[in-house]
This record gives sequence, structure tokens and C-alpha cells, in this order.
Amino acid sequence: MSIDEAGSTVGELDPHGSAVAAGRVSAKPAPRRLVIVSNRVGPIGRNQTGQGGLAIAVRAALERTGGIWFGYSGSISERPSAAPKLTTDGNITAALLDLSRRDYDEYYIGFANRVLWPLFHYRPSLIGFSRRDLAGYLRVNRGFARALAPMLQPDDLVWVHDYHLIPLGEALRQLDCRQPIGFFLHTPFPAAELLRILPNHRELAASLCAYDLVGFQTAADLESFRDYLLRQGGGEDLGGGRLRAFGRTVRAGVFPIGIDVATVARQAEEAEESRQMRRLTASIRDRSLIIGVDRIDYSKGLPARFAAYSHLLEHYPQTRGHTVLMQIATASRSDVPEYREIRRNLEAAAGNINGRYAEFDWTPLRYLNKSFNHRILSGFYRAARIGLVTPFRDGMNLVAKEYVAAQKPEDPGMLVLSCFAGAVRELGEAIIVNPYDLEAMAEAIWQGLQMPIEERRERWAAMMATLRRNDINAWRERFLEALTAAGSGR
Ligand code: UDP
Repeated sequence: MSIDEAGSTVGELDPHGSAVAAGRVSAKPAPRRLVIVSNRVGPIGRNQTGQGGLAIAVRAALERTGGIWFGYSGSISERPSAAPKLTTDGNITAALLDLSRRDYDEYYIGFANRVLWPLFHYRPSLIGFSRRDLAGYLRVNRGFARALAPMLQPDDLVWVHDYHLIPLGEALRQLDCRQPIGFFLHTPFPAAELLRILPNHRELAASLCAYDLVGFQTAADLESFRDYLLRQGGGEDLGGGRLRAFGRTVRAGVFPIGIDVATVARQAEEAEESRQMRRLTASIRDRSLIIGVDRIDYSKGLPARFAAYSHLLEHYPQTRGHTVLMQIATASRSDVPEYREIRRNLEAAAGNINGRYAEFDWTPLRYLNKSFNHRILSGFYRAARIGLVTPFRDGMNLVAKEYVAAQKPEDPGMLVLSCFAGAVRELGEAIIVNPYDLEAMAEAIWQGLQMPIEERRERWAAMMATLRRNDINAWRERFLEALTAAGSGR
């Protein structure tokens, strides 16, 4: 989600480095104050522009219960204060910590993004482990806990987000914090045998067990966690979602993250009249638009997607001159070396496709190295006949859900979705592809382009019903209800 969801109009996107949604416990009895902890914190001010759906949802939820959004400020300073900088808007407080250059390099770049991210996305060959980075990761988590603990009140609910902060719950417990503390992992959780690659896999798994509740995106992620605890942690399944390992009992469940369906649909409809959309439709003319929207990340499978499009143009000559792939590829984590290299490769691949197939009046691939706000994106999705979402591995993939929510009910476009995106568990009516099979991807795009309108409508309606049932509000309420219940049993 990912997402500098927090402010999705500018610069680099790193949803997983950023803020996520949360909310209140459903009205009965009195809602407890909520404390959200995520690596990055979104703007809390009411009139902030360019916020993503998740940041808005966090704000709305915190507004109802009152609460704190705690995390890294995004600034590096020479001598960061150990106490967070507080800003308050109404009953919401943002509590922000700066990091030192060393903390940032070791905790964020080194361990979170060069060890956990590739491992959790099934790319162990990209891991660059060092004990120094691991020590930095643990040190920053302990520092966060020390800064947060004095701010907590006995009745608070604490909700920690994502792989940067796995040890935070345990660090809070060591400081004698007794509030219910939940953790939600936005990324996939790797198979037990893969997790074993991590030299500190036991400590990491044990620290997950220090939470009252651990939430995963899919049943497969939960199963990997359970399997690890049972095989490697000498654990047992107590039933009812309770697992016991490392001398601790934890509840674990599946909470697939949703989107703000109604807002995406409304924005997409409103965008039809916008200047950008007029420009886009004029430039596409009667051709079929295929859209991809991703951060530049090796998990997204962009080179394979380009190769599949090239295969389509080569083997389905009817598509030449009649399709345009618009790939929005937003820069992300460019201080991590692996990310700079993918960007260079993608630029070369885009140049090759256009060099090979372009005509004087048609460019097959539009490669946009920039980011757009949700309002504009929703319009782009709606104009596209195909939404191409083909990651090699993804915790959920919100773009897949947003693409579906933005479609015209009477003439919806078709989603082509990787079988390795978490979203596939809810969007089974999409055209499902294996992103390692280029020919199958080209075939899937062709199938989508040819699909009769009745079939598109039918598949779309089924997907929309699922998205509406589990929108962003339903997601956070389910998690917080489960956390309240898990915490009361402590
Ligand atoms: N996004 C955006 N502007 C862009 C590109 C992406 O606001 O130019 C948003 C997109 O709408 C989605 C999020 O970034 O909400 C990406 O989330 P996803 O789960 O698809 O992938 P992640 O980046 O979290 O791995």
C-alpha cells in the first residue's frame, strides 16, 4: 500500500515506509484511544492536499477516538532528540522522531529494505545482511519504544504497522507496557524454509509472538507463520486463532487490507471532465489503453511486464498501432543500490520497445517516471481497457483494487492480475496470470482486449461486491475488534 500514501502527489513513493490506516473500535462501549505506530507518519492536518486514501482513513479514525500517530519524521538530523516532536490538530497528535544518518542507514536502508524486504518478497539473492545493520534495526526499535512508552495511557489500543517495526511490541513489553498491542504486516510473510535464511529468524519470530494480535494479508501468509512456529519454534496451535511458541501465546489472523471504494469510484467519475483526462483521451484516440501503476521495485515484475507487452506486439500484430501501454513507474528508495539498477534497466527496455515498434504517429509504450495523485490516477484507471498488475510477489497490491473500483459500471475494463499478488485471493474474477510466463501474460492481455462486454460486466460486478464488503473501514474495524478481544484475554 501501500504509499507515501501519506502524501502521494510528490517525489518518491514508499508506502511501506509510510503511514497506514487505522481506526476506532466500533462504537460500543466507549471507543478506546488509538495509538498508531508506523515507520512514516502522514500529514494530520485537516486541509492537507494530496493525501492518499489510507492517510485520510487514519485521520478520520483517530479523529473519532482521539489518538496518536507515532513514527519517523522523514528527517535526518545530526543529533536527533530522544523525545518526539509533537504537533496537534484537534484531538490527534503526531509524534515524530528524527533519525541520525547512522540509524537511517542501518535500520531503514540496511536491515528493513536490504534484508527484510527482499526476503519477504522471495528474493533471497538480493539480501545484504550485516550484524551492524541488524543491531541498528534493533536499536531504533528500542528507541521508538522508549519514546512512545511514556505517552501511553492504560486504556490505549496500540497498532503497529509493517516490517520496519517487528521488534517494537516486545520492546514495549520490556518497558512494562500492558496495553493491547497489535501488529499488521503489509508485506507477504515468507515460507518457513525461506525465513530460516535470516540469521536472527528465531528472535524475529519470537518478537512477533510478543504481540496480542498479528495480522496478515492472506491465508497463505498466516499459514507460513503458523508453519514456522510449529516446525521451528516448537510451537503448538491452540485453536481459535491462538498459537503458542517461544513461551508466548499470540493470536494470528487474516485481515486483507481494503481501499476506500466509494471515494475511488467518485473520483474516477469526476475525473472524466478534467483537463488531464481530455488530454489523455485525445492522445489515445480510438486505441486501447493498457495501464500499469507501480513503484519501481523488483517485486513488481516490470521488466517481465515490458517483455510480455513486446511479445504481444510481436505475436498479435493486430495490436500494433491499436494499443498503448502507459506505465507509471514512480521512483522509490533510490538510496538503496538495487533500486537504481532496476531503473536503468527499465529505461533501456522501454527504449528498445519503442525503437522496435513505434511508428511516426504511434508510440506503443509511454513510460512515466513520476507520480500522480489519487484523483488523477482514478481517471487514468477508468480510461484504461486493461489494468496490468503483474508483480512477482506482493503483500496485497492496492492498485489492482483501485483499478477495479474506478471502472465504468456499464463498460468496465478488465484487470490482468498476477497469481502472486495478495489481491488475487479476493479478485478471482480477474484474468489471472503467472508473471514468470511471458506468453501467458501476452495471451491474457489479448483475452482482456477481446472479452465481450457482458462477461466484463459480470466479472466486474463480482469483484466490486467483494471490494465493497471489505473496504478500508471494514478492514480496520475488524482488526481493532480482534485486537480488543485479544487484549482482554491477557
Ligand atoms: N500511487 C499514487 N501515485 C502514483 C503511483 C501510486 O498515489 O503515482 C499509489 C497507488 O494509488 C496505491 C499505492 O500508491 O494506492 C501503491 O500501493 P500498492 O499496494 O499497489 O503497492 P506498494 O507501492 O504499496 O508496494
